[in-house]
Amino acid sequence: MENKTQFLQTGTGNIQILTLLIFLLGFVFNGCAALQEAQKQRQKRLDERRKVDQLLLAASDANIVVDPTPIEGKPHGESDHYTLTFADDLLVKADFDEEDERKMFANSALSYMESLYNALHSIFGFKPKHKIHVTLYDLYQGTDRIATTGTQYGFRNNGRFVAGIEMNFPMNMYDRHEVRVHELTHAFTNIYYLPTWFSEGIAVLMQTEYAKGGGSPKYDNLKQSMKLDPNGINELENWGSHRESTSLTPWRYSYAYTVVSELREKYGKELYIRLFELMDADQLHLRLYGKMPSSFLIYYMSQAAGKDLVPFFKELQFKVQKLEKDDLVKYIQQINAESQKGHQH
Ligand SMILES: [Zn+2]
Repeated sequence: MENKTQFLQTGTGNIQILTLLIFLLGFVFNGCAALQEAQKQRQKRLDERRKVDQLLLAASDANIVVDPTPIEGKPHGESDHYTLTFADDLLVKADFDEEDERKMFANSALSYMESLYNALHSIFGFKPKHKIHVTLYDLYQGTDRIATTGTQYGFRNNGRFVAGIEMNFPMNMYDRHEVRVHELTHAFTNIYYLPTWFSEGIAVLMQTEYAKGGGSPKYDNLKQSMKLDPNGINELENWGSHRESTSLTPWRYSYAYTVVSELREKYGKELYIRLFELMDADQLHLRLYGKMPSSFLIYYMSQAAGKDLVPFFKELQFKVQKLEKDDLVKYIQQINAESQKGHQH
């Protein structure tokens, strides 16, 4: 279904984004029937390419090198965008204790993950610069129910940079397609240091509407399903870490997904693609020492929507302020100073 497909297929790189701009200008300034027909055909092709199955089943032509018994510290497989390692607790399991089994699994997993990578790249229009280091376990952190994606950051004079990305899956989680899509969405979008609620909202959106996986149902009404902390602030905004798990966690996933999905329905499939493009153009997110504050994100979201979204978030009891472009740098300095003070105490 068309309105279930995700985001705008912006393609991979400048050339296709440029094509898109020309296409939009053409749409505004030309009423010519032939052109409209050409546009219709083009849209049809784009819609075809967006079909989940085609994207995911596209064979990967990535370079894959597998070593079923590597020396200590080396991965079992490596491809263009990943390394793959089987953890010790998995290597003793019946499915992984023979070289042939590991070889076959590593080859097909890397091939599949490369296809998924290409699919997300074509949806988001950007990709992380680093290889993603994937480790598969029998149990991760003592459980088979937690998968994580971690992005390491570094700082140099001109700001923050990504130093590495790793993903950890117990096999029970890796086996689920929607979980792989959720985690890979983090690997892509973490380069923007997003607030947790938005990062998770986007990941659940991809997991649910793109990968057709369940898990975090949408609420019918954002106001009625709101949960507030003792200070009257929406508990979604207090979501500090991907790893923390409280009785609020299931609500937070669902609520974050509902917020992200409702805004996208209202302001169009391209809303978040535009948001990422705008942030990328300014590069101001690189100057943040800590996580991106909601007000910063909502500044860019408003630009992308063509409407001030601060009232929408205020109504949901987010503690946000309206920023103008001129305020952004000053705001970043203030936020950084506060976070440094916080670290000293
Ligand atoms: Zn997540």
